[in-house]
This record gives sequence, C-alpha cells and structure tokens, in this order.
Amino acid sequence: MHYRHQLASGIDAPLQAGKIVCVGRNYAEHARELNNPIPGQPLLFIKPATAAVAMAARINLPVGGGECHHELEMALLIGNRLSIGAADTEIAAAVVGVGLALDLTLRDLQDSLKAQGQPWERAKSFDGACPLSNFVAVNDIDLQAMDLSLHRNGQLQQSGNSGDMLFPIKHLLREISAVFTLLPGDVVLTGTPAGVGPLHSGDRLSAKLGQILSINTEVN
Ligand code: ZN
Repeated sequence: MHYRHQLASGIDAPLQAGKIVCVGRNYAEHARELNNPIPGQPLLFIKPATAAVAMAARINLPVGGGECHHELEMALLIGNRLSIGAADTEIAAAVVGVGLALDLTLRDLQDSLKAQGQPWERAKSFDGACPLSNFVAVNDIDLQAMDLSLHRNGQLQQSGNSGDMLFPIKHLLREISAVFTLLPGDVVLTGTPAGVGPLHSGDRLSAKLGQILSINTEVN
C-alpha cells in the first residue's frame, strides 16, 4: 500500500513522503555495542521514499536476508527546503514534526557489506526498511530532551534520551543540508540509542517518545 505521512493536528502542509536521511552512530553507547568507532563527523546514508511504511501497520521483514535488527530513532519531518548555507533561523524552522522510526537493518548482510567495503543500501534501504509513526507538531517541544524507548514482547529493549546525541539536531541539519538539499516531506532519522537486536515473526513492539507519542505494532 502506498505510504503517506500521517500528521497530527498543527501540521497543515500536505507533505509528500520524500527521501529519508539517516545518521549512523549518533549515540556513543550504540557505537560501542557494535564495536564501531565514534565518528568525527556524522555518518550519513539515505533510504529512498519507497522504504517508508506506516509503523502502526504490521511490519514485514525481508525473507532470507538473515537477522533484521530494530533501531528505534527519533524522526524529524522536514517542512521547508533546506540547502547549503542555510541560516540558523532557517534550520530552526525547517523541522515541522517529530515522530519515531525503526531503521530496520539486515545486520548480517550489513556486516558482510562492510567487510567487503560495499555500501549499506541492500541492508538498510530496501522496501519497508523504514516504518514511521505519525508526526506531532514540534511547537514548544525541546527536541533535545526527549526520552525514547522500545519494548519488545513486554521487555525493555532500547531506551535513550535525545540529549545524548553525539551530534545534536542543529548540527545534523546543517551538515546534512550542505550535502543533500532537504525538501518538504523529507525525513531525518537522528540515530539509535543502545539496545538494538533482532526482530522475529510475532514480536509485539511498543515504542514511546516522551509524553507525546506512543505506538504499538507487531511483526508479521
Ligand atoms: Zn540507525
């Protein structure tokens, strides 16, 4: 089914889903759990619009691709065009909504691609690789002080606070927009806290973003 952004009240633009720009290793503990060095600048990659699916619908995992990990991330919905040389005020105004995403990752495949020096797209950018929640208007929300958590089958798997990002949101948006112009309807994923792990058929997931968003879903 064709994905459309689900917007809570307060976001009035009819935003067509665009590219999803992601940042790897933006929480130190997560970098450590996968034995990765902490990057000196944001590690960026892109999922195409075709990776987006509604998180509230059931999640389909790719067949035969090895372990597929959940990476719960805070997702930013872009409402204004942002390009190289953007002023601080433009950067601050560019985010119109905040939500949650699962950066689904075929971890075995990613490890083998990494070992061969190949790009990660086959492991992270496949159809359905980015379940997205609805987006809440950001007015009066301190995006840099949000708890996020993921329970799997009632057990806490991931928890973090956006205050622990290695590169905070303004830094990320400046860095990203200097390379990839962000357009209305694009989404930025801000990195995952520690606790990533494999998903299995029948898993029940419950994800929370502070007091503003709570979403339940299930793995097919
Ligand atoms: Zn991620």
